[in-house]
Amino acid sequence: MNLTALLKDLENCPCGRKHSFDVKRVEIASGVTSKAGEILESESFGKRLLMVADANTYSASNGLEASLEKSGFSVKKLIYPDLRVASEEGIAEVLALSNDIDAIISVGTGSLNDICRVASFRAKKKFCIFATAPSMDGFASNSAPIISGKFKESLFVAPPSVIIADTRILANAPIELKASGFGDMIAKINADFEWRLSNILTGEHYCERISSLSVGAAKKVISLADKVCEKSEETAGAIMEALVISGLAMALENTSRPASGAEHILSHYWECYKLARDIPQEFHGKKVGVATLLMTEIFRNAVDRYESVTECPENPDWDDIYSKFPKETAKDIERLNFPSVTDKIVPGSIEKNWQKIRELAYEILPTKQELIRTMRAAGAPTEIEDIGISRDLLYEGLKYHPYMRHRITFTRILPLIGIDICDLLD
Ligand SMILES: [Zn+2]
Ligand SMILES: [Zn+2]
Repeated sequence: MNLTALLKDLENCPCGRKHSFDVKRVEIASGVTSKAGEILESESFGKRLLMVADANTYSASNGLEASLEKSGFSVKKLIYPDLRVASEEGIAEVLALSNDIDAIISVGTGSLNDICRVASFRAKKKFCIFATAPSMDGFASNSAPIISGKFKESLFVAPPSVIIADTRILANAPIELKASGFGDMIAKINADFEWRLSNILTGEHYCERISSLSVGAAKKVISLADKVCEKSEETAGAIMEALVISGLAMALENTSRPASGAEHILSHYWECYKLARDIPQEFHGKKVGVATLLMTEIFRNAVDRYESVTECPENPDWDDIYSKFPKETAKDIERLNFPSVTDKIVPGSIEKNWQKIRELAYEILPTKQELIRTMRAAGAPTEIEDIGISRDLLYEGLKYHPYMRHRITFTRILPLIGIDICDLLD
């Protein structure tokens, strides 16, 4: 991937902001595993590596270790049987092995990458991700979701300086993981709608170029829906590239705005609910995909059913809202809501701009039917039952998720125009 050209295109961006990222090199190609050693050598990764993988990703990366050793690297290994959760304990295990090494290479996706992302940052070591599945857009991310106790927190760290992905390996990744990457990517269209919505209502900074980078990547993935389940190197490579671009778009804008909106917050609500009760989690992109479909239905029904809206004072029942979150997070909920993000909305502007918002929704968002068709083609789940969410938890999440984030979303403005979100479902 030509990162230099990408940055060059964004020089003197008309939006007025300086855009940059810290990822130095992204190599997505067929058979690139055998060149991994050369790549890390030319990126000054030292000589002593710690490789962190699980049994599946380690066996999928066949040839990687040989390539590294051929280039003169010594490779110390930490191979987990399976690692579903990124926790402080995992970070400590990686750190305990990091004293006598120069750099860390994480072989896999999700949690494996996340513990290494934090450990390499804390130990001040260079970091490479060798991706084994196109499953989510966090590869280029500079933050890591870490489970601490029964809570999830987002730790700000550094992104990997190198990302390597062999399309031969990606193409053979489990369909569930590829479909998960698809689910994470369709969210970018909704995210863009809400980013533009906030720009209209609050004047939040919006960059056309970053938006088109992220939306362009999403559209590319959507156009490949029919091929996601195939073992096609070309498709898997294109999805991987889109996922990396989405991550870079967040870094370039310095917020997750281009990639994440109400659907991610709703998914996060479900995740926290299950975490507090020790219920196993589904893959990120599976949940986000279903949440995206629900949000598409909600947004489109709102603009279909309401030709005009009237602003009204919202009267949140804070005792009720606090009761939905663990007591230990009360301070966070307070910090996120006082002052309220809705204070940024110029009074009267939702009413005044409603037509514009409706037009935007029709212009940007797919219909629910279109989205269902592409999701099914891509092997992505479309029903809450598919991701272990009950009707009750669906309604609870819809009602309370907007208070988990200090961000203007379409779902956060609904109480300001007297619309009950649950009434917007079909
Ligand atoms: Zn810009
Ligand atoms: Zn995501």
